[in-house]
Order: sequence, then C-alpha cells, then structure tokens
Amino acid sequence: MSAGARLSYSRIIDISQPVTSRTACFPGDTPFSKSVTLTYEDSQVINLTALTMSPHVGSHADAPVHIKGSFEDSQTVRAGSLDLKAFLGEVYVIDISDTREAIDKQVRDRLLSLAGKFERVLFKTLKHIDYDTFAESYSYLSTDCATILGENGFRLVGLDTPSVDHIKAKELSTHHVLDHFGLVWLENLDLTQVEEGAYQLIALPLKFMELEASPLRAVLLK
Ligand SMILES: [Zn+2]
Repeated sequence: MSAGARLSYSRIIDISQPVTSRTACFPGDTPFSKSVTLTYEDSQVINLTALTMSPHVGSHADAPVHIKGSFEDSQTVRAGSLDLKAFLGEVYVIDISDTREAIDKQVRDRLLSLAGKFERVLFKTLKHIDYDTFAESYSYLSTDCATILGENGFRLVGLDTPSVDHIKAKELSTHHVLDHFGLVWLENLDLTQVEEGAYQLIALPLKFMELEASPLRAVLLK
C-alpha cells in the first residue's frame, strides 16, 4: 500500500448518539431492547443476546424505500444497497445552535458559498442533547433548503434531530425533495462536541438488505 492511501487525521470525533433501552424514539416507533439468549454463567462459554429496535433509533440513515415503493419491489433502494460514496469524504459542519426552527433560507448564502467545494453538509442545531427524552420541537429542513442542496450538487445532509421533516409533517415533503435530487440524509447525529468547519466524514450504513433505514457509527476526522 502506498503512503498516500493512509488516512490522515489527528482526532476522531464520535458523532453517534448512544443507543440504550432508555434512548428516546419517535412516538409509536420501537425502542431498543435486548433479551439474553445465553449467559456466560450458564453456558460457561459465552454471553449471547438478541436485539429489537426500529432502525431509526439513534444515529441512522434512511433509504428511499422508507418513503416510497414497497419491500416487494426489488428496484426500491433499501439500506444495504445505498451508494456508499455519499457517506464518506469531505464534509462541512454549519453551526446554527441553538435553534428549534426550520432550517430555511437563512442558510442559503452559506450553502451557496460551500457549493462546488463540498458535497456534504451537517447542521449543528443543538448544544446539548438529552438522549432519553423525545423533543417534540426540533429543527428540520424546509423543502426550499432541501432544493438549494439538491440544485447545488450536495449529495449528503445530516441533522442532530430525529427527522429532516417537521414532527407533524404528513407527507414528508422534505424527505421526498432530498430523494428526488438523489441526496442521502442522516438523522439523530450528535454534534455537541463539534465546531463549525471542514472535516472528513465516515458514516456507513450497515448492509441490511431488507430494511428502510440503518443505524450508523458516524465519526468526523480532523
Ligand atoms: Zn429516519
């Protein structure tokens, strides 16, 4: 391997939310829980568990089949067949904390100044996250903002809130605009330890071939 192939960084910043049985999820969604299949004490060999959770608990990426098509249609993209290129590479973090408002045209100029230089952008909207409490009011992307991203060559956008759409959104319009432009989106990130600026992002979805979303271990390299 050549030296040029080495990743160069001095710091890894974990931007994933911890997942426990107390972790909040969308009202009506399935929280994380585990059952113990085998204990070391009983088996004298291993501890073994099984888990139940919605793939939208904690930091995750949605796949297009979350908002359209059906699992029966082999053409609809599931978590395991998302194009990995979007999830790896240069990213710019925009700090607009603290806000519970829509991310709308207030970021237009900043996005336009990043266009052409960056294909990935994360919005830090929170200085503190209470992982165990579902916040009824949170920041989300307006459809205008999603359109600006789509028209200016961005391929990934991430938020530190539970959804790119408003909590009461019925048709998930922002999800659809992002999907229309071929963007992928990350939800429930933890950017509390991150300052505005440029980083390398690694946030790969797991290869779940039958799911509409996947948990991520998301990190920034500085
Ligand atoms: Zn989701």
